[in-house]
Amino acid sequence: MSIKVEQLTKVYGTQKALNNVSFEVKKPEIVGFLGPNGAGKSTMMKILTTYINATEGSASVNGHDVVTNTKAAQQSVGYLPEHNPLYLDMYVREYLAFNARIYNIDSARINDIVELTGLTPEAHKTIGQLSKGYRQRVGLANALLHNPDVLILDEPTTGLDPNQLVEIRALIKNIGKEKTVFLSTHIMQEVEAMCDRVIIINKGKIVADKKLHELRESKEQTVIVEFDYRVEDAFLKQLPKVKTVVNTHAFVYEITFTTSEDMRSYVFDFAHDNDLKILQLNQKNASLESLFRELTAE
Ligand code: ADP
Ligand code: MG
Repeated sequence: MSIKVEQLTKVYGTQKALNNVSFEVKKPEIVGFLGPNGAGKSTMMKILTTYINATEGSASVNGHDVVTNTKAAQQSVGYLPEHNPLYLDMYVREYLAFNARIYNIDSARINDIVELTGLTPEAHKTIGQLSKGYRQRVGLANALLHNPDVLILDEPTTGLDPNQLVEIRALIKNIGKEKTVFLSTHIMQEVEAMCDRVIIINKGKIVADKKLHELRESKEQTVIVEFDYRVEDAFLKQLPKVKTVVNTHAFVYEITFTTSEDMRSYVFDFAHDNDLKILQLNQKNASLESLFRELTAE
């Protein structure tokens, strides 16, 4: 069991940051921990990485309880904090070697890690000279130094430009082939781009825990289409995954599908195959983004 959280509650003063949270991650997979700001994501990650203790409940990493077996839990987990503190004056290799010494890690590992995290072309620079994307790579390299089975990444892609975003996502996906990656984000697209599974948290409570493909299948989508003449509802029901067809006015139809996959191309092909002309074709509330908004609405 990579991560096990049971009925965990964290109270800061009078504020309940986590409210009876339970979940498990069993195998190497990339799990997105998604929630709006203030939902309790960083709090959960600080507990899993043994930085703070829960008020109630328990958590373990790789089978090691974070409170009763702290050392073993720490050895199992690598952590990239939300605001990763770095020594800007240190050279990349110097910084990694410094941390390797603190944690008694063979310095031979540094070259492997520099290579793995794509730092080689920048490794001769000081951290202060690096872009935000490369600084994140240094943070990832540092989290991976002791070769932990579980990686906890707190908003690893926040603040990156589009190119850096693509590169860091690819790197995380690559790492996730062998390790359990538990990463937080407040952006659904990040989950769609990287994760196999998503756990959605809102106001300290889990509101969804699903595989991405289940989520896509569970979400409905409505397409609005206008043809150049009348079509029988029953005819449109031949489209795949149709739930309902409503002829809203004139030759305009609202077709609801039981999937969040973009169905417009199916409608287009259907019209083409049946010699119908499309005058307009729009998608209404389809995205997983809208599901996230529904689940985390006030
Ligand atoms: P997230 O990472 O999802 O944005 P956090 O876990 O940082 O959320 O915070 C969850 C809630 O707990 C927020 O309302 C935040 O203000 C509060 N909180 C976090 N850390 C502390 C702290 N050290 N003291 C008091 N309240 C805190
Ligand atoms: Mg946070």
